[in-house]
Amino acid sequence: MNIIHDTLINWFAENQRDLPWRHNPSPYEVWLSEVILQQTRVSQGRDYYLRFIERWPTVTDLAQATEEEVLKLWQGLGYYSRARNLHQCAQQVVEQYGGQFPSDFEKLRKLKGIGDYTAAAIASIAFGLPHAVVDGNVYRVLSRLFDIDTPININEGQKRFALLADELLDREQPGLHNQALMEFGALHCTPQNPDCLLCPLQVHCLAFSNNTVAQRPVKVRRTEIKTRYLNYLVILFEDKVYLHKRDDSDIWKNLYDFPCIETKEQASAADILQSDEFSQLIEGKPCFTRKVSRLYTHKLTHRTIIAQFIEINLEEELLQIQTKGLTLTRESDLGNYPIPRLIDLYLNT
Ligand code: SF4
Repeated sequence: MNIIHDTLINWFAENQRDLPWRHNPSPYEVWLSEVILQQTRVSQGRDYYLRFIERWPTVTDLAQATEEEVLKLWQGLGYYSRARNLHQCAQQVVEQYGGQFPSDFEKLRKLKGIGDYTAAAIASIAFGLPHAVVDGNVYRVLSRLFDIDTPININEGQKRFALLADELLDREQPGLHNQALMEFGALHCTPQNPDCLLCPLQVHCLAFSNNTVAQRPVKVRRTEIKTRYLNYLVILFEDKVYLHKRDDSDIWKNLYDFPCIETKEQASAADILQSDEFSQLIEGKPCFTRKVSRLYTHKLTHRTIIAQFIEINLEEELLQIQTKGLTLTRESDLGNYPIPRLIDLYLNT
């Protein structure tokens, strides 16, 4: 094991990327970067990280922001429950620990949105505590090094890999070891085309000797991906547009989109405009159709969304907007609202 972690740490010293959160790995910076990197690649995550740090340099600053401000800066990363958890976690750190993250794995683990992985990353990188991280990169490297065919997305696999990562951990320098292992997976032992021929761990790699590298790690496919058909009504009145604030019963909680009629299968714009739901929505007021968009396909973790946007000009203002969860806002103010990526894509097209 010693040879493996020494090799990894030497490799890391020569090959690591210069990333802003590595300059001063405070608990706040480690936590923020790990939460952002669970959502996106490093190249895009770096920009989000810098924007967050510039706007809220400390966890106390972040705790004092409004949820809407946090969602707005998070926009484009998806999975908005993580942004809400980020904000609530900052508030817990301020309320329960006076603005300092606790240097204890179990206490970190109890904070909102912090799971085993993030708690281990903060504990090891910021506090030097001996906790092994297990992320996608670690699963891949370990499954190849030890040629393990237990699926990584079942309980048995998760337990097995957690134990193995713990056995492999360099307890003298756990933060460095964890970062080296993750970086090695991200840059060298990559999902496609790992550089086995120039790999410093090749002599120890069982998947390389057994010629099973391409089959590792093993995953079982379980979740059925559902398709949803969203027909958005972009209702314009003078220079304003009706926005809809989403509630917590569905995806995109507390974000803004447009009023929407969901159908079980793809519907034409004419079907939507002739439906009872549409006449109730516009309260039978006179209107005309300005434009119908192309179809947008948007993939979420367990769903595929097929959306169309029907632009309507309304000749009279709607009266019952509160009961429908609507807000009338100037088109020029749309940028002030947190919106899902799908709506952002449509607005930018
Ligand atoms: S030999 Fe290939 S599969 Fe094995 S650790 Fe190195 S890069 Fe990964």
